[in-house]
Amino acid sequence: MERVTVLGSTGSIGVSTLDVLSRHPADFEVYALTANTSVDALFDQALVHRPRYLVLRDAASAELLQAKLRAAGSESQVLSGEQGLCQVAAEADTVMAAIVGAAGLLPTLAAVRAGGKVLLANKESLVMAGRLFMDAVDAHGATLLPIDSEHNAIFQCMPGVHRDGLDAQGVRRILLTGSGGPFRQRPLDTFASVTPDEACAHPNWEMGRKISVDSATMMNKGLELIEACWLFHCPPSRIDVVVHPQSVIHSMVEYVDGSVLAQMGQPDMRTPIAHALAWPRRMNSGVASLDLILQARLDFEAPDEQRFPCLRLAREAAEAGGIASASLNAANEVAVDAFLNRQLSFAAIPRLLERVIENVENVEPQSLADVQAADALARERAQSLIGEFGS
Ligand code: NDP
Repeated sequence: MERVTVLGSTGSIGVSTLDVLSRHPADFEVYALTANTSVDALFDQALVHRPRYLVLRDAASAELLQAKLRAAGSESQVLSGEQGLCQVAAEADTVMAAIVGAAGLLPTLAAVRAGGKVLLANKESLVMAGRLFMDAVDAHGATLLPIDSEHNAIFQCMPGVHRDGLDAQGVRRILLTGSGGPFRQRPLDTFASVTPDEACAHPNWEMGRKISVDSATMMNKGLELIEACWLFHCPPSRIDVVVHPQSVIHSMVEYVDGSVLAQMGQPDMRTPIAHALAWPRRMNSGVASLDLILQARLDFEAPDEQRFPCLRLAREAAEAGGIASASLNAANEVAVDAFLNRQLSFAAIPRLLERVIENVENVEPQSLADVQAADALARERAQSLIGEFGS
């Protein structure tokens, strides 16, 4: 039995992961489930999956959960704080890293340092600390498997030794596909009036609110580009973003002989989750067959970086290296949060990011502390600009 910790189990990826795990009770044991403050959702999951540990980052929420579980006769133990998250990440055989945002960095790194199997949904940790993160993967012999559907698709089209880089595998370039989000065709002059609910209504995927807004600004594709550079040891110049509105092809790899391999499937995260959980085998995910006759057509277009400047900002950060990506990621988290709280307009998100980034003094981070300092500084700058950009 493989012991699995699901970091961020109450979120969109966490819930899909538990759905897949529950289809294979003979192969997987749920070791720990974690959330930030969602006491009731974690309580319900505890009764169904009976993990050894439950962790809430928030200490007061953890106390509440412990009391509820005791009253229900549950034997699961409740931990709290970052220490609790890191403990259950380090103790499992397999960790689904699905906390949203920079908060996922330390628990995900704890899983990497324990040398087990790490299923990476929390792209922000790689965007923030790319080189240090990948060095830790190498140093501790962890098995890192991508969950983002695009990176999982690339992984499936490029099996083998990614550490050798693209040339060693005969790869010419990576084609990173993206739906273009809900505003691909919305008139640009109405972007200022976009509401949080409109931004979160993705045409093909059901996701948490932060990644949904990132998809609407196309920052998500930018963060994915940075993530792909690290995962596949690939310069940004060898990754082309292709807009594919149907989200049936999840990404492609072009080889030097002209072959282009694509991974296709329903837009359902249970496919990459099951792929990574079972890897190198395959197992049922509960996802229905893809009906290509019904699908009938697949469209492709170039991304519009004027409409979506966040994609350009992310590519520039990937090219700059150093702390640029960590700074961009931190500023983006602040801007998205402000947008969701109606303190910042949708159109102002890229403008605010640009202002933060142009003042970053870029250096190569030597330690996690350097990354965290860059993150804190960018957050502070972004926060101080919210009043100026307004809603
Ligand atoms: P959700 O917002 O749906 O869920 C986030 C999870 O993280 C929840 O369990 C939440 O707990 C927990 N969490 C939030 N903040 C903290 C914190 N400070 N400390 C500890 N736990 C915290 O996010 P998604 O599932 O959509 O996304 C998770 C990650 O996966 C992101 O990095 C995203 O980019 C990536 N991803 C998501 C995809 C998707 O389809 N959703 C696709 C590809 C990648 P609580 O419930 O208490 O708030």
